Amino acid sequence: MNDPFIMTPGPTQIHEDVRRAMSKNITNPDLDLNFYEYYKETCEKIKELLHTQGEVLILSGEGILGLEAACASLIEPGDRVLCIDNGIFGKGFGDFAKIYGGEVVYFSEDDRHPVDVDQLRAFLENDHDFKVATVVHCETPSGLTNPVDQICPLLKEYGMITIVDSVSAIGGEPLEVDQWQIDIVLGGSQKCLSASPGLTFLSISSDAWKAILNRKIPIASFYCNLGIWKDWYKEKWFPYTPPINDIYGLRCAVERILEQKDTLERHKKIGEAVRKAMVEAGLELYPSSGFSNTVTTVKIPKGISFQQLNNTMLQEHHIMIAGAFDYLKDKVFRIGHMGENCYEEKLYKTLKALDQTLKKYGVKLNGSLHSHFIKQLEY
Ligand SMILES: *Cc1c(COP(=O)(O)O)cnc(C)c1O
Repeated sequence: MNDPFIMTPGPTQIHEDVRRAMSKNITNPDLDLNFYEYYKETCEKIKELLHTQGEVLILSGEGILGLEAACASLIEPGDRVLCIDNGIFGKGFGDFAKIYGGEVVYFSEDDRHPVDVDQLRAFLENDHDFKVATVVHCETPSGLTNPVDQICPLLKEYGMITIVDSVSAIGGEPLEVDQWQIDIVLGGSQKCLSASPGLTFLSISSDAWKAILNRKIPIASFYCNLGIWKDWYKEKWFPYTPPINDIYGLRCAVERILEQKDTLERHKKIGEAVRKAMVEAGLELYPSSGFSNTVTTVKIPKGISFQQLNNTMLQEHHIMIAGAFDYLKDKVFRIGHMGENCYEEKLYKTLKALDQTLKKYGVKLNGSLHSHFIKQLEY
């Protein structure tokens, strides 16, 4: 069987330079002092990408580990936590906060549009006594981006520590960690950065460090305890053996993004063209506004099931696209145009296959998806 051409919203395709970097010979990363420098330099490069002067750590585990580590390290039993929820990941954040004893209050909104900052402001006027607030930058299942640039400064006005899950946005959407007053932002290796799955990284502000180091109740975890990383460089000590090949790959992937000056414009242009192609062909996008430039979520049209769509794309075209989970299961399909996936020829190929697949099942489209897409890019 051919390897599928993955056009999913993570994992994404991996450039061969990244694959080559991962296959380099290893050292003993706990004993080799050069590796401490290499790890530190890699963190410096991620800081450049995130626009932060805060500390950055790379942890061994997927995005979910970053999310859990932030909750475990900041939340003490009984702390009030505000979870901003307009999607599956936003709501799910609350579950992690509860595991560590947080008293969760949700600010919930419709999942078809971004968080309304005026509504949030009005909510906070009545209730703002929270230690920590969580928010998701890009809601990957529904395909929308939240205005984190406005949300986090507002939360900070009330002294909350802000945790942002930007796993599917970092590298594809603008992100200014210090300017937007984000205390912890977390990302994963396998989305827009297009490295292999397995790593999470996060930034930690001085406010976040203060909260982590001045707790009354110790952190109920070792792997998720960010506090134990405080002096890793000074003491030349890692809490556990770092997955060295994954870090080689991530380093190469981050360097590639820092070298390309047009990454964000490319995501914006391609994202817009994919959405317009869908709409012109008569398909319906899931969100009504705030569309993500890294993933497009489309309602499954009448006449075809997700399983039929997926099987035909895979068996006849060797292209893998994604469905969704939870309450969106079997209702939508998703195309990940992030990182290495986000190139004109890859989306053309995907949309052409999708066009043929839908038509095979008798779905009526206006014109064809791939020609609408190309026409959009010509403007
Ligand atoms: C992918 C993703 C994660 C991480 O999930 P994994 O299952 O570890 O890949 C977290 N948050 C968001 C918004 C994501 O898109």
